[in-house]
Amino acid sequence: MTTTTQRDPLAFLGDELEELKRQHLYRPLRVLSSMQGPECTVDGRRVVSLASNDYLGLTHHPRLLAAAERAVREFGAGSGAVRTIAGTMTLHEELEATLARFKGTEAVLTFQSGFTANTGVIPTITGEDDLIVSDALNHASIIDGMRLSKAPRKVYPHKDVAALREILREARDRGRPDGAGPYRLVLVVTDGVFSMDGDIAPLPGIVAAAEEFGAAVMVDDAHASGVLGRNGRGSVDHFGLHGRVTVQVGTLSKAVGVLGGYVAGSLTLREMLTQRARPFLFSTSHPPAVAAACLEAIRIFDDEPELIERLWSNTRRFKAELTRLGFDTGVSETPITPIMVGESATAIRFSERLFEEGVFATSVVYPTVALDKARLRTIVTAAHSDEQLEVALATFERVGRELGLIAG
Ligand SMILES: *Cc1c(COP(=O)(O)O)cnc(C)c1O
Repeated sequence: MTTTTQRDPLAFLGDELEELKRQHLYRPLRVLSSMQGPECTVDGRRVVSLASNDYLGLTHHPRLLAAAERAVREFGAGSGAVRTIAGTMTLHEELEATLARFKGTEAVLTFQSGFTANTGVIPTITGEDDLIVSDALNHASIIDGMRLSKAPRKVYPHKDVAALREILREARDRGRPDGAGPYRLVLVVTDGVFSMDGDIAPLPGIVAAAEEFGAAVMVDDAHASGVLGRNGRGSVDHFGLHGRVTVQVGTLSKAVGVLGGYVAGSLTLREMLTQRARPFLFSTSHPPAVAAACLEAIRIFDDEPELIERLWSNTRRFKAELTRLGFDTGVSETPITPIMVGESATAIRFSERLFEEGVFATSVVYPTVALDKARLRTIVTAAHSDEQLEVALATFERVGRELGLIAG
């Protein structure tokens, strides 16, 4: 046997990784060896965690665990097929009917994730005769959904309703390029809550502009479901805009505490998605345990409103204390609380020192945010106790002083 040493065709990736590390942009994976929660074991260390999207603590809620267990026993470990072949179970349909009632829409279709909900719905409902108009800070999955569509797109500056109106006015007055007539559909797409800054989309202004110029609105409520609106019904409910937003996307991976995404809207929209949305057609449906746990979570939204109250009281307390200590929490209006730092290397150092001191808060650097807008991103959850918040705040104060980020 002879062995020839072949050049690794992917060797160039090693060089690119070295470059990322040199620029302090390389992110090692932290590994949990416990359940997700306000306190967990990460890289072998017991820490207070401010790093998850588990807003209501449902990842470890006893009712979700019990629902998942029951579903495994009754329906098995996997669904065994894509939805359109043999992979649609009663649990999937029950979850969708429950979500539709919860959101107050005609129908809902679930997807494997929020990411695939966006990459599924956008190319299904838009094509070359349409125009997509998108907020500059929309989530990566919306951007990828637009890339998969044949529709041209325009981007408006973050939350700038005046700029959006100008784009919509021109789209209505001029129509498609080369005098090809009016657009079939002009779709304005926005996050409901922006995932890195925690600010809320100006939905009333967006909806009014869209209605004035004959456009439709799509809202991605990944960070708003379970957080905003009555019992966590999301940003459309928060602003009282029922019936005026054509497409609502949601995730089952954040406040719902499990995994998945969904599109809420008309029955016609749902029907077309079942015929054309590629992640729905060509990727296997959720395991029974996932669908059952999501279903239980939606029931808990209505049964245990105290969880959302606790989420918001913890958030208000945490933000007020950070501000009192002298930290800059940016433009956040929701539990997503950035702690603005500036330089990537400082943000990474801050996160590392906090971790050594027992607090897990991730740094967010370029290209996720602008080069000079590096930060820590924290979310306190309903599950954090007063003591855990005190530990976190005392550690922020100590490490913040040590790194010269706050005075004292
Ligand atoms: C997190 C997020 C998603 C993706 O949701 P997953 O269920 O994790 O795939 C989509 N859109 C927005 C705005 C998000 O914040």
